[in-house]
Amino acid sequence: MRDGRRFRNALKLSGLPHHKTLDEFDFAFQPELDRRKVRDLASLEFVQAKSNVAFLGPPGVGKTMLAVALAVAACQAGFSIYFTSLDDLVRNLREAEASGRFAKKLQTYLKPSVLVVDEVGYLPLNRTDANMVFQLVSRRYEKGSIIVTSNKSFSEWGQVFGDDVLASAILDRLLHHCEVVSINGPSYRLKDHVNPKGGDQSH
Ligand code: ADP
Ligand code: MG
Repeated sequence: MRDGRRFRNALKLSGLPHHKTLDEFDFAFQPELDRRKVRDLASLEFVQAKSNVAFLGPPGVGKTMLAVALAVAACQAGFSIYFTSLDDLVRNLREAEASGRFAKKLQTYLKPSVLVVDEVGYLPLNRTDANMVFQLVSRRYEKGSIIVTSNKSFSEWGQVFGDDVLASAILDRLLHHCEVVSINGPSYRLKDHVNPKGGDQSH
């Protein structure tokens, strides 16, 4: 019973946008997705190994849902978790820096066993922000897992981080121990629309 309470409290503090699980994911809707790879990830060996996971693909294919489902599973298994969009992450770090609390704020993102960084690529970052992300990724390197979602391929991350050298340095650390799951398929958000190939503007 105490475990149940710990789990619920941890979920509440995790910043997760919802608490969907892998069981709720309709793999039949996404036939090109490697179901086994996802099931293997759910064993949470990557958390033990302090390695990373990247979900790549266009809007609506379930990147965030899968990242959340792995985080929920990790939380249930007793690992500490935290969820943030890249945008919120850099905004929070920037504000902390302006008020002299950068080191303390960084701990929020360094402490959890699993940090989900959602939505890399929707908004490009400036150099200062990209530098803070680099600090975070290098400090977590081989110390704690990052689950990242992105609508951009890694080759486009130079544009996202506004600097090819910085993007390479981030990717170098992120990808050294990383399971990459590419999802190429239809948007689940548009599944009930008449023309499912119309393009998702909603992200
Ligand atoms: P992305 O992050 O790739 O843009 P999301 O994970 O936010 O997409 O998915 C969009 C919505 O569709 C969410 O409500 C999510 O739970 C749901 N969804 C996506 N793919 C599936 C799926 N295969 N089975 C069930 N629900 C899905
Ligand atoms: Mg998403």
